[in-house]
Amino acid sequence: MKNFTLETDSDGIALITWDMPGKTMNVIDNDIMDEIEQWIDKVATDDTIKGAVITSGKKTFGAGADLTMLQAMLGTYAEEKARDEEKAAQMLFDGAYRLNQTLRKMEAGDKPYVCAINGLAMGGCFEIALACHARVMTDDEKATVGLPEVKVGLLPGGGGTQRIARLVNPQDGVQMLLQGKSHRPAKAKQLNLVHEVVPAADVVDRAKQMIRDGLKAEAPWDVKGFKPPLNIWSPQGVQMISAGNALMHKETYGNYPNALNIMKCVYEGLQLPMDLALKRESRYFANTLTTPEARAMIRSLFINMQELNKGARRPDVPKSKLKKVGVIGAGFMGAGIAYVTAKAGIEVVLLDRDQEAADKGKAWSEETLDKAISRKRSTAEKKDALLNLITPTDDYSRLGGCDLVIEAVFEDKGIKKTVTESTEAVIADDAIFASNTSTIPITELAEASKRADNFIGIHFFSPVDRMMLVEIIMGADTSDNALAMAIDYVLAIKKTPIVVNDSRGFYVNRCVMRYMQEAWNMLIEGVPAPMVENAAKMVGMPVGPLTLNDEVAIDLSQKVMKQTIADLGADAVNPDHLKLVNTLVDDHGRIGKKGGKGFFDYPPKPAKKKLWPELKDMYPQKDPGSLDVKDLKDRFLYTIAMEAARTVEENVVTDIREADVGAILGFGFAPYTGGPLSFIDEMGPAVFRDRANELAARFGDHFKPTKLIENMAASGDTFYGAAKQRAAA
Ligand code: NAD
Repeated sequence: MKNFTLETDSDGIALITWDMPGKTMNVIDNDIMDEIEQWIDKVATDDTIKGAVITSGKKTFGAGADLTMLQAMLGTYAEEKARDEEKAAQMLFDGAYRLNQTLRKMEAGDKPYVCAINGLAMGGCFEIALACHARVMTDDEKATVGLPEVKVGLLPGGGGTQRIARLVNPQDGVQMLLQGKSHRPAKAKQLNLVHEVVPAADVVDRAKQMIRDGLKAEAPWDVKGFKPPLNIWSPQGVQMISAGNALMHKETYGNYPNALNIMKCVYEGLQLPMDLALKRESRYFANTLTTPEARAMIRSLFINMQELNKGARRPDVPKSKLKKVGVIGAGFMGAGIAYVTAKAGIEVVLLDRDQEAADKGKAWSEETLDKAISRKRSTAEKKDALLNLITPTDDYSRLGGCDLVIEAVFEDKGIKKTVTESTEAVIADDAIFASNTSTIPITELAEASKRADNFIGIHFFSPVDRMMLVEIIMGADTSDNALAMAIDYVLAIKKTPIVVNDSRGFYVNRCVMRYMQEAWNMLIEGVPAPMVENAAKMVGMPVGPLTLNDEVAIDLSQKVMKQTIADLGADAVNPDHLKLVNTLVDDHGRIGKKGGKGFFDYPPKPAKKKLWPELKDMYPQKDPGSLDVKDLKDRFLYTIAMEAARTVEENVVTDIREADVGAILGFGFAPYTGGPLSFIDEMGPAVFRDRANELAARFGDHFKPTKLIENMAASGDTFYGAAKQRAAA
């Protein structure tokens, strides 16, 4: 075996250690399945082996299934389906059933297995553990166990839905499956997911001891008279299933077939003996795999994201090791940037106009860490180490020796110019200067620089510590070296980079603006505000457009419009939009959440936000019964998708993977679609074009298909199809 070792001790206990060569984490692929089958056979047939302990030779136990394997399986399925549909379905089922059958063989055999979970165990890897007769977990707080499949459009297909439903109290179990929540050691024990929690150094010994103490090779559900924690036919069972369904629909609005299939697995599986229940789970797993949602989510949220996180867009220049980073402007964004940079172990110089402002920026890290410590997410030592890395100052000379400097000062070209000049006077010629501007074109800002090739945009999203996306913007003269350094930096702080060319609003904000503008259009037409918010949520947007506009601030929207008019002329802004925003900000002081009032009123907690009642007096209201919710839902997705297509056409986005990942990570574009370009691809550009034309006729020219969409609709090309052809060429 290439990936496992098996050593039997003098007590006849086999220690199976999983350690895939050349990988940082263990993952399940076809080779692993072959080898699991081999060691299960070995343990079953070798009379000297009394039982086995499974552990990992890495810091973690395992990350889950390698989804590229599933993607390949789907490719073969599609090819076979074109020839023989029935055979294709059988083939997919057999593939889906394999891990289930294998693990069941281990569970139902007559030798006891204990899993020594020495670190994080996710997805299929945790399902291996669940199929063992006992589980011992390390007490390391960083270790978690969970089944996150739901997040990539799938369901746990290695027995997870069945074993969780039989081990864990129904409410927590269903929540764990539907939300893909993972648990730390103490909670895992409390939920009955693991039997014991011990120090990391003892997991294997303790697991072996359980076998020596006579652990039976019998899963609880194979013991005669076993009753699962939930009896589907009891009054509580009926209530639980109804509540579970309600929770699922509340969270998914029916957009996620995998979530529905998870509920079906639990509901049907609990009425069946284990072997049949596992078979049922495999059927739902195979069914889930064939949905466009699973296909698109696996591609965007797993494969594309993994490629970007490995630096897919990095030019082939020597890797840079960042030791010291300067952050100028210790305000809302700068404080966050300093924190995430120091968290990655990089020295930070945090500079503001005076020492007091710089200190305040550093204090934000301290407060954040104190909160983390109170929630047991960090320690006093880690806090000290991180704070020691941040030097607050108002003295530019301290920036000397920085490999990279990021400015996050006021959104003002003049101020940014002065800051660029002062910085370039003290940093090395080959150091990189980056701007976190959200609106000013990078090429314009680079005019203030003496070395425009080393000038780049590194655009963070707020809140910086929680948002996983960073948009890197290439100015007209930005060099490959600067891009490589920016990507190295973003990967070092463990965020996902996308690389776009310069344009007003870059990529993400261009799409976000369309989302908010469509909501304004609806309000102006007299669509009741609650319908605007609800239609967006129903189509899968995590945050309604009016809520989002309040969060980013309505006065900011106003500033952006004014700047656009100043730069491009009055025609560049829709006068009705300007009037709406001016009325809110100038006449009513409704600047957004930060001011306590925007589209919503924000009363003191615990009261919840409520739509501003007078909003409905601003425009004559339409009768909700006269409105088609499908139109409202489509308008949001179509306007964003059309803008995403426009950015491809204008060469702002040059890699379609980034458009999809950027929209999902940047503002939560309906994740089940796989992103705006996958949304177009999945229905086909011709269908998209036709519906867009319909919307354009009724709701405005901004829905009119772009030339690229027209061409694709005519040729039958898709975004991913064309990208594949380019890659092959
Ligand atoms: P902010 O007002 O909270 O912080 C700006 C900081 O810059 C302040 O601490 C100010 O004292 C400091 N500053 C101003 N002039 C300076 C100078 N000459 N030298 C040194 N420091 C100076 O603003 P913010 O929201 O953090 O935004 C900063 C930048 O980030 C802007 O370019 C903005 O467009 C961009 N941005 C903001 C967001 C957001 O959501 N707020 C998101 C992405 C990008």
